Amino acid sequence: MEIKIGIPVSPGVAIAPALVLDSESFRIPKRFIRKDEVEQETKRFEAARKKALSEISGIKEGIHSVVKEEVASIFGSHIMILNDPKLLEEIREKISAKRYTPEYAVSRVFRKVIKAFQEIQDAYFSQRVNDFYDIQKRLLRNLLGQKAENLSKLDRKVVIVAHDLSPSQTATLDKSMVVGFATDAGGATSHTAILANALGIPAVVGLGTLSQDISGGDVVVIDGKSGRVIVNPDDETRERYEERVKGFEERGKKLAATAAKAERTTKDGQRVTLYANVEFDEEVEYSVNMGAEGVGLFRTEFIYAKYGTHPSEEQHLETYAKAHKALGGKVLTLRTMDFGADKYAAEAGLDKEDNPFLGCRSIRLSLREPRLFTTQVRAILRAGLLGPTRMMLPMISGIEEFRQAKELIEGVKADLTREGIDFRKDMPVGMMVEVPSAAIAIDSFIEDAAFFSIGTNDLVQYTIAVDRNNQHVANLFRHTHPAVLRLIKGVIAAGRAANKPVSVCGEMASEARFALLLLGFGLREFSVGPQSIPELRTILSRLTVAEAEQLSEQVMKMGHCGDIDRVLQDAEEKFLPRAEFGE
Ligand code: PEP
Ligand code: MG
Repeated sequence: MEIKIGIPVSPGVAIAPALVLDSESFRIPKRFIRKDEVEQETKRFEAARKKALSEISGIKEGIHSVVKEEVASIFGSHIMILNDPKLLEEIREKISAKRYTPEYAVSRVFRKVIKAFQEIQDAYFSQRVNDFYDIQKRLLRNLLGQKAENLSKLDRKVVIVAHDLSPSQTATLDKSMVVGFATDAGGATSHTAILANALGIPAVVGLGTLSQDISGGDVVVIDGKSGRVIVNPDDETRERYEERVKGFEERGKKLAATAAKAERTTKDGQRVTLYANVEFDEEVEYSVNMGAEGVGLFRTEFIYAKYGTHPSEEQHLETYAKAHKALGGKVLTLRTMDFGADKYAAEAGLDKEDNPFLGCRSIRLSLREPRLFTTQVRAILRAGLLGPTRMMLPMISGIEEFRQAKELIEGVKADLTREGIDFRKDMPVGMMVEVPSAAIAIDSFIEDAAFFSIGTNDLVQYTIAVDRNNQHVANLFRHTHPAVLRLIKGVIAAGRAANKPVSVCGEMASEARFALLLLGFGLREFSVGPQSIPELRTILSRLTVAEAEQLSEQVMKMGHCGDIDRVLQDAEEKFLPRAEFGE
């Protein structure tokens, strides 16, 4: 049994065998072979090893003539490892005596060796670790060959373990079989966290080298509240966590039942609207079932994953039509594509930038590549005829950008009119407030933008200068930083004063304790991962606006994030006692 501590990003408890995705998405399940298959499987391993040897010899030969001897010697050591009698003996023994598949035997043995090397703090040995990774990959690639398993069709429940989940990996994953996520990298608002929250499954990120220390099939416990990940738990620990899984499921049911009966207002009758954040059209129906009153943020860049390329106008439209069908007349907020930085930069073939989060991402890319943007805008305008639809522009940093985008939208309208294609003429166009410059100068957008949605994931990142995906600075990513709170409060106040709808769609809104504070700032629209809706509905119906305002006044006099967190935690406990619903 091994215990690791990471950053908890989505609550709940899961227990299941690990499905390890490495950077090449190999899936190495713990599988056994029959006795009569031992000979044939051993031969398969030998064939994969010989192929690896000949591949390396080929590279080595090629290199010899053009670069120095030392480079070739790296491949020399790869050949030595592939011929190492002790290593080979161990792999063969795992196949013949333990009846492991060759893939699983290779991953087990290499994992042990790599771990031993990692424990030696020495530059030479850490270089050796890379050699072992390379060879393991080569062997697995040869072994799996055409047989690489299909991630979109899993036959049992799994916990996904990966270095970091890329949007395209998750797009193809059979999500109905995934009960938890654990990743080496990431922070509280990384893609893994967002996806886990959307699916309502536990996740822990920032686990360092977990994906290398674990083999497919190892049983993993994920505790999404404490950040604990337990590999191969002993019987007693496993039983204890199985009880907690049940407890968590019970909690969900009780909360859903309570929320279904709760008023859609605060205790003193102020209306509060709860929207859902979604990434795939399939999530819309689930969101409605969880009590969503519409979609407050559709991250449309994920349509890219579905089609593997920039979607056509018809493909966009088809997706929006499905969402509208599931919403049955509720509002659909379509955010135009937020490409770049952490989202599809590599897949979309974008130029590599030194500072992609500060580079040509999102609306900047849309304005640079107007054809991509206008294709989507045409579909959004047409989707407006299928149900209430709003268009939302991401990453706006200044009014010029917003106006430039609006001009393009007007151009699209003129084109559609000329072509005789019907569309929604008065579609509201709003913006995300997620860049500090937009939050500070919010008054400059008040006339032009139809609505505002505060993206706290990026707003926190840019305000505190802390990468939202970097586990090494995750402790600095604080929603309760006084600078962040002032910006949010200012935007809400400006929107309300001008009678423009304001929501918060960053992960902050989905946490009950922060929601209380946002209510006190004057927020009446929240857009959150669907599984958070019952909890928010319940807690927000239990306090008056005056109580929330009192809380926010208290917090705004404070300067220390930790102290603010404690005050908010106490308030949450007051209105939603842990004892009432369990965990
Ligand atoms: C945000 O930045 O808060 C947001 C909602 O957008 P995303 O997480 O997709 O960047
Ligand atoms: Mg954002």
